[in-house]
Amino acid sequence: MRIISTIDDMVREREKLEGNVGFIPTMGYLHAGHLSLCRRARIENHSIIASIFVNPTQFGPQEDLERYPRNMERDLRLLEKEGVDIVFTPSVREIYPAGFTTYVEPAGPLVEEGEGAIRPGHFRGVATIVLKLFQIMQPSHAYFGQKDVQQITVIKRMISDFHLPISLRTIPTMRESDGLAMSSRNSYLDPTARQAATMLYQALLAGKAAFESKPTNGVQAVKQAMMDLLQNEPLLSVDYVELRDAETFLLLHTIQMPALLLIAVTIGQTRLIDNFVVHADSSWDTGLLIAPSNDV
Ligand code: AMP
Repeated sequence: MRIISTIDDMVREREKLEGNVGFIPTMGYLHAGHLSLCRRARIENHSIIASIFVNPTQFGPQEDLERYPRNMERDLRLLEKEGVDIVFTPSVREIYPAGFTTYVEPAGPLVEEGEGAIRPGHFRGVATIVLKLFQIMQPSHAYFGQKDVQQITVIKRMISDFHLPISLRTIPTMRESDGLAMSSRNSYLDPTARQAATMLYQALLAGKAAFESKPTNGVQAVKQAMMDLLQNEPLLSVDYVELRDAETFLLLHTIQMPALLLIAVTIGQTRLIDNFVVHADSSWDTGLLIAPSNDV
């Protein structure tokens, strides 16, 4: 596995690769969710490239950029085990040199609502770094997790808007054995907060049951079923509970498919998001619970 930290070297190495190249962008502090992206990419491509870069432009001024967890040595070990060919680990200066000026600015409800309403500028930072990395990596396929579904929708839009010859692959949410979606930010949770965090999954299960029962007062009843559980947990503060169209990301006012059930909460200083998706054929993607392991 080659570890590369400059853009020039990365471009040179990329030029040597033949066939399909799979790309997995990450901010590091890897868990089984990241590794499932790598596994899928390994199957579908001749070569795979992962990046580890904590992107400052997607963090707000009051957010956790400084304390975001990092462990490069362990991350590299895990990526090597997954058969990753190249890891790109640039510095902030390499990606945003003095004089950097040009940002990708997604606009409209897709970036003004949901996470965008709570994290202004977040998707501008995401779209900018992802386009930059796509330009450097020239991947055939790029791998993203369902957990960050609004991010996926923004990137799909960018790929289409800018005619990028890249196929985006969505990978199901990997969960701890009690249902909590894996996230690098889970490391912030103390044992009590960690226990409270399982309520997101429970609330999504309750929302799914309500959705399937086709309640007469529709969307409101599904949201209420989720809220009832979340409000029962005093450590949680609810940022939003929403039902959205899974293709357009617009808010739903009646029960229809494909749909997303979305939850965002804050526990202490830690923001957590999660979702379930129900497809047009009524099948659900609720993620995968995985058994505890010492490796990850
Ligand atoms: P991050 O390092 O948090 O920026 O995440 C890098 C990629 O891993 C993104 O595409 C995320 O959506 C994805 N990811 C994060 N958590 C999970 C998870 N629990 N299951 C699957 N993919 C995930």
